[in-house]
Amino acid sequence: MAERKLRFAHVLLPEGWANDVAIALSREGSIVAVTANETDGREPTIAGFAVPGMANVHAHAHQRAMAGFAEVSSTGTDSFWTWRETMYGFALAMQPAELEAVAAQLYMESLLAGYTSIGEFQYLHHAPDGSRYGRPAEMSLRCLSAAATTGIAITLLPTFYRYAGFKNQPAAAGQRRFVNDPAGYLDIVHDIQTEVLKQDNARLGISPHSLRAVAVDELREILQEFDRLQPSGPIHLHAAEQSREVEECLTATGKRPIEFLLGNFGISHRWCVIHATHMAESETAELARSGAIAGLCPTTEANLGDGIFNARQFRDEGGMIAVGSDSNISVSVAEELRQLEYSQRLKFQARNVLAGGPSRSTGRTLLEAVATGGARALGQPQGAIASGLRADIVVLDQQHGSLIGRSGDNVLDSWIFSGGNACVKDIFVAGQQLVQQGQHIDGHNITARYRKALEALKAKL
Ligand SMILES: [Zn+2]
Repeated sequence: MAERKLRFAHVLLPEGWANDVAIALSREGSIVAVTANETDGREPTIAGFAVPGMANVHAHAHQRAMAGFAEVSSTGTDSFWTWRETMYGFALAMQPAELEAVAAQLYMESLLAGYTSIGEFQYLHHAPDGSRYGRPAEMSLRCLSAAATTGIAITLLPTFYRYAGFKNQPAAAGQRRFVNDPAGYLDIVHDIQTEVLKQDNARLGISPHSLRAVAVDELREILQEFDRLQPSGPIHLHAAEQSREVEECLTATGKRPIEFLLGNFGISHRWCVIHATHMAESETAELARSGAIAGLCPTTEANLGDGIFNARQFRDEGGMIAVGSDSNISVSVAEELRQLEYSQRLKFQARNVLAGGPSRSTGRTLLEAVATGGARALGQPQGAIASGLRADIVVLDQQHGSLIGRSGDNVLDSWIFSGGNACVKDIFVAGQQLVQQGQHIDGHNITARYRKALEALKAKL
């Protein structure tokens, strides 16, 4: 039963652009009807261009605090692994209340960038000295609370992290906050499951950190219990991000990471493989066919010097993609998609590589691909403005310099390749307006708490 309506001047619907669109909502904020060319409504019409809310499928909230602090050369031959040392410094210092403040800032910034849900790949489980908190999921629940503060939808993906290498080497001292045995990890999962059920727009998934951090038999045990809890819940894992990781996997198992995954687990549409940067052609084809989503983080992958995802072949093979802000060096739907396309342009010395065919807009093709892939990767009912889905809507500002004189798909291309985050004007999650004219409704308080947390954190480093 429709409770109320929202009206938008221009809307990207699954069948294309439409004008004067009335969207009828249920009490819970689901879309119950979409009607175009309806000009006689009582509600005010929201100006601008309305598009579906996007999913930020991969973020580590705590890393938001260090964005920009690892851009000074530490050794002269810096790499992912030297960046990781800086990240561990922040990770080891962060108290629960600080994580909550940092996460709220990140989630608000995600909303301001056009994301309406977040996949929190959370591996900071224990106290700074490695001891357990009274509540097993203390740190993850802080992220859940940060999501409630900002209004963003969340899929919490607590991380199973056990070892420091493919040969099950014991975790290092710097990893003490991350590490669990399967029983300890499942305590965290059960604790979150209870709380997720109480919060609107919250979901539970799991995230085995990477093949180098887990043992196959233990992961199987965890997957079995998760199947019982959430038969179609999402499973995320980092794989093939670094070439050193590929070499170590080959040495330990005789297989490349994606090849090993495909051969040892029932990889399906429930899986979101984060990065999947270094794949052979056969792995690319098989991963695409498996139905798994490639969770791409192009700005982080560029910042860390990871490598270039084989996007053209993966898309040609029918592979599904989604994007995430990962290290949060940039939090922007537009920048992720721009970097993804630009990496292919530089690689192939060509333009509009991912447009999907003649006369197609690159921006629209990419946006629709990650809207659908992202919704599936997080198990969230979003990804399009259509009946049955949650009313997660991003409104782009027609007055922004980059969007003046644009219409239809030109709006998307101009947002993604030119204007970026500054084009985002209003955000609705489940029909609730959280961002108005580029400002979050509680932005002042969220940033004040973040500033305090940052001061406390920096004093400890
Ligand atoms: Zn990550």
